[in-house]
Amino acid sequence: MYRDDTREQIESFQKSAIEIMHTLGIPVTPHNYTVWYRYVRQEEPELVSVIDALRQTNDRFTHDMMDSLFLQFCEDINERELIRLRDELQEMVTELYRTVSDLSGESSGFTSTMIECANELNEVESVQEIRVVVARIVDQARLFGEKSARVEEGLDTVQLELDSLRAALSLLQEEVRRDELTGIANRKAFDEALARQISLSRRRNRVFSVIMVDIDHFKLVNDTYGHLIGDQILKYVAQRIDVRVRHEDIAARFGGEEFIVLLPETGSESALMVAEGIRQAFENTSLRSESGKEMPGTVTVSAGVTEYQFGESASDLVARVDSALYKAKNNGRNQVCLI
Ligand code: GH3
Ligand code: MG
Ligand code: MG
Repeated sequence: MYRDDTREQIESFQKSAIEIMHTLGIPVTPHNYTVWYRYVRQEEPELVSVIDALRQTNDRFTHDMMDSLFLQFCEDINERELIRLRDELQEMVTELYRTVSDLSGESSGFTSTMIECANELNEVESVQEIRVVVARIVDQARLFGEKSARVEEGLDTVQLELDSLRAALSLLQEEVRRDELTGIANRKAFDEALARQISLSRRRNRVFSVIMVDIDHFKLVNDTYGHLIGDQILKYVAQRIDVRVRHEDIAARFGGEEFIVLLPETGSESALMVAEGIRQAFENTSLRSESGKEMPGTVTVSAGVTEYQFGESASDLVARVDSALYKAKNNGRNQVCLI
C-alpha cells in the first residue's frame, strides 16, 4: 500500500506520527501508531477530517476514541503491509546507526552493533527473532545514551526512532496472532490469552469458561461445493462468532473448521447460553453466495462448553471442552453440550 513512498517520506511520516502522539499524550501502541501514521500520511481524507474535528472539540484522545478510530479506518492491514513493516524496521535500524554515528562523530561499539543488527534482520524468519534483535538495539541505545553526554540532545531523535521501531514491531507481533484466512485471532493468540487467564484465575480466584465450536459435516460442504466455497463459509462462521461475543471475550480459530471462545468472568450457565445463541444463529440463517455460485442453504454447528476448574492446566481444560463437543456431535450434531 505504501510501496511508492520514498525512505525520506516514510521517515518523516514516522517522526510526525510519533511526535503528534507525544504531544497529545497518546500511548505508542501498535493500533494508535497505525492510526496516526495514516493520519499524517493523509491517505484517507475521511480519517483526516474525523481526527481534525476531534482535535478541535476534545483536549484528549481517550483509549475508546482511539479504538474506534482504528476499527473504523485501519482494520484492513494486510500481508503486504506486514512485509512493508519488516522492511521499515530495517531502514530504521540503518537510520539509527547513521544518526548515532553522525552525533558521536566516531565509530562506537553501538554503531557496529547496529550494523550487525541490520544484517541479522536480513535473515530473521520470525517475529520472535526480530524481537531479540530489537531488544538488543534498545539495550545498546540505552547504554550508549548513558555513556555519551555529548550527544544528549540528539538522543531525542534516537528516542523517537526507537519508539517507532517498537511500535512497528508490536504491530508485526499482532499480525502473527491473527488467523490469515478468517482474520480473527489464531491458536497462538488463544493459547497466550488462556495462559494469562489461568494465571489470573489462580491469583484472584476468577471464574471463566470456554466454548468450542465445530462446523457440522464440513467435509461434505467441501466435497460438494469445493474448497473456495468452504473457505468463504469458514470466514463467515468465524466472523459471525466473533461479533456475537463480548469485547473482552476472545474468539479464535482453533484449527481447521474449529473455533474456540474464551469467556472471562463467565460461569458455565451463561457460557451455555452464549453457545446456544451461536448455534441458533447459524441454524436460522440461509446462506447466499456473493458470487452467485452454488452453496449449501445453511450450515449448522455443534459446540462444547465447560467452566475452568480451579488449579487445572490449560490442556486439561481444552481436553474437557473437546469432549463436550464430541458429545454434542455424537448426540446428533447441531447442539450444545456442557460438561
Ligand atoms: P463433523 O460434523 O463430525 O465435524 O464432520 P466434518 O466433516 O465437519 O469433520 P471432519 O473432521 O471429518 O472434516 C473437517 C473438514 O474441514 C475436512 C477439511 O477439508 C476441512 N477444512 C479444514 N480446514 C479447512 C480450510 O482452511 N478450508 C476449507 N475449505 N476446508 C477446511
Ligand atoms: Mg466439523
Ligand atoms: Mg473438526
